[in-house]
Amino acid sequence: MRRVVLKLSGEALASPASDETIDASTVDFLAREIAGAMQRGGLELAVVVGGGNIWRGATGAMAGMNRANSDLMGMLGTVINALALQDAIESHGRATRVMSAISMDQVAEPYIRRRAVRHLEKGRVVIFAAGMGNPYFTTDTPAAQRAAEIEADIVLKGTHGGVDGVYDEDPRVNVKASRFDEISFDEVIARDLRVMDMTAITFCKDNRLPLRIFDLMAPGNLGRALDGHAVGTLVQ
Ligand code: UDP
Repeated sequence: MRRVVLKLSGEALASPASDETIDASTVDFLAREIAGAMQRGGLELAVVVGGGNIWRGATGAMAGMNRANSDLMGMLGTVINALALQDAIESHGRATRVMSAISMDQVAEPYIRRRAVRHLEKGRVVIFAAGMGNPYFTTDTPAAQRAAEIEADIVLKGTHGGVDGVYDEDPRVNVKASRFDEISFDEVIARDLRVMDMTAITFCKDNRLPLRIFDLMAPGNLGRALDGHAVGTLVQ
């Protein structure tokens, strides 16, 4: 794997151990994993970070807010998370750039595909913020879409809640649920397995973009996934 997009949820930055929206030691752990993984020569890593620890558009919409407005709040949440992650990764000695899909010149660079690729080629971790800049999406879809756009080899979706891959049933409901080592996009769609938003799944399928779902919070797992080890589930 040469060029990789890592999707991590906003909630991965929080911690059950503290009631902080962004838990400093959790962000530091993630940054260490990312900076450590970057020691692999030739690896180019872009991160798409979610915002669910701060705001989800659907939550506001359910409470009667205008959906597009509520989604904008969600996208701004991803920018806050991106800055937290940037700070932490740089404290581990790795250069980063935050590129936002919504212009905010004083905060982040605008997303420009060619510029993003150049940063990656120079070994900088690129953090994509504000999703795709469009409401009615979650950050799963921009993870897949940006991956296609920058010609990444794979999308790695890091989980954080203990579910470490794709299961035939929800393992939090049925302890006997079994995990797939590998599964096709068609089967994920046919069984309606909620591993990622369906829009992102169909996008990956249509664009022949492999996807690995794995537990990001297990130390060393990101490196193992990057080395092509069979952690979690490979969807292709
Ligand atoms: N969002 C959006 N368009 C995008 C990406 C995100 O409108 O392209 C909004 C949407 O409201 C979403 C929120 O940003 O609920 C936070 O992203 P997400 O729910 O994906 O966060 P995660 O669950 O990954 O933490």
